[in-house]
Amino acid sequence: MDPIRIDEHPKPIKGISCSVKNCVYHDGKTQCTAGKIAVGPSNAVTSGDTLCATFQLKETDQ
Ligand code: SF4
Repeated sequence: MDPIRIDEHPKPIKGISCSVKNCVYHDGKTQCTAGKIAVGPSNAVTSGDTLCATFQLKETDQ
């Protein structure tokens, strides 16, 4: 059986345009490389109510 491979350079998710450049999964342009994302909350009534639950703050040296 082949070992599970972890892709260190995942491809961007097609159809997702993200501007959150301080997320560890952001490619620095407009794309997300998380592989998959989760968006919520379930009680949202406007687009402004929603957020990406997969977001993780990118650590910087500053
Ligand atoms: S995980 Fe969410 S916030 Fe981070 S790059 Fe992907 S879509 Fe943007």
